[in-house]
Amino acid sequence: MSRKTIILTKGRRARLGSPWIFSNEIRIDEATKSIAPGTIVNARGEDGRSVGTGYLNLKCLIAVRLLSDDCDVAIDEEFFAKRLKHALALRDSLYSRPFYRLLHAEGDGVPGLVIDRFGDTLTVQIGTAGMEKQQGAILAALDKVLSPATVILRADAPSRGLEGLDSYVKTVKGEGQRIAVEENGARYIADLREGQKTGWYYDQRDNRAFVAPLAKGRTVLDAYSYTGGFGILAAKAGAKEVVCVDSSVPALALAEESARANSVSIKPVKADVFEELERLAARGERFDIVLADPPPFVKSKKDLEPGSRAYRKLARLAAAVTAPGGILMLASCSHNIPAERFAAECAQGLVRSRRQGALIRQAGAGPDHPVHPLLPESAYLKAVVYALD
Ligand code: SAH
Repeated sequence: MSRKTIILTKGRRARLGSPWIFSNEIRIDEATKSIAPGTIVNARGEDGRSVGTGYLNLKCLIAVRLLSDDCDVAIDEEFFAKRLKHALALRDSLYSRPFYRLLHAEGDGVPGLVIDRFGDTLTVQIGTAGMEKQQGAILAALDKVLSPATVILRADAPSRGLEGLDSYVKTVKGEGQRIAVEENGARYIADLREGQKTGWYYDQRDNRAFVAPLAKGRTVLDAYSYTGGFGILAAKAGAKEVVCVDSSVPALALAEESARANSVSIKPVKADVFEELERLAARGERFDIVLADPPPFVKSKKDLEPGSRAYRKLARLAAAVTAPGGILMLASCSHNIPAERFAAECAQGLVRSRRQGALIRQAGAGPDHPVHPLLPESAYLKAVVYALD
């Protein structure tokens, strides 16, 4: 095989099994510089020892993402079919209905690739130059393993810019973009072309299921509701009133539609959450259950301090509108804040709001979002739930 080889001069983490090799851990000579972004390479130690097969992009801090821990592994339709079958077997054992994240990047051995399944419709997110080059093999493998009716390619993640890729959304097979998601016994409408990310956030499934039964007969504030993942399930579980706050008008419109599909109602409020929480607090409004699941406040490592302060402030403001004896859930989907730091900021927010309570749940994403054991960053979702005094 005439495959190019990347030599690791450092890279202890990769040698011990991590799938990431950073650009300061490899030898960069003229030959390496001439390798096109996304090219499949072998990675070896200076002693020639095999580290694995991966793809290279010198434009990125993570220069090589490994697809296998053997060298010379063929990356083709068969490779993706094998990964898919493995992932599918796990999901089939976890869920009775075909609605889940089917492939979760590094957690499923396919860095840069995320696929969500909605029955016979799939949304495929390609985030790196390496995976972009494999598009044909990925789509062929999907046909072979699942023969989906509709496949929508979401090649519009902001991170693509850093990889030197353009941004587009394309229906590569079938038609239609609005589908019904079945989750926790509720039906939600999702727009897979226009919606955020892949159109639906499966990662919060278990946290929604935890919170909803607590809402029976109580009032709920679903802040950063998107299309009502939490709020609608709470309404279905018998909540007295559900207010969904989001800055996106299309997301709130879908939330209302989904509420009707479940014969419940929600009150949509288009607003900035920080401003709305301050308004509600000033008016003395309180909710029995408050949920806040914001967009990432720590987008990169350099945002850790300001982002952490934002989580603390959100916790303070959200606690202020939580009724005595109420439940408060705070979430973070930032890869770049460790779970302990997030929990510590939330705890400080409560203190500043002069509220006390007990932490009753600390959780992450559901098991269809597997975490690479040597890549704690892939456990991006954190949720803390407090029972307040
Ligand atoms: N809880 C949702 C997912 C939330 S995603 C679920 O269960 O599906 C984050 C949401 O925050 C997005 O819908 C986005 O439109 C919204 N958002 C981002 N910035 C906002 C702001 N400043 N105020 C209100 N909503 C905001």
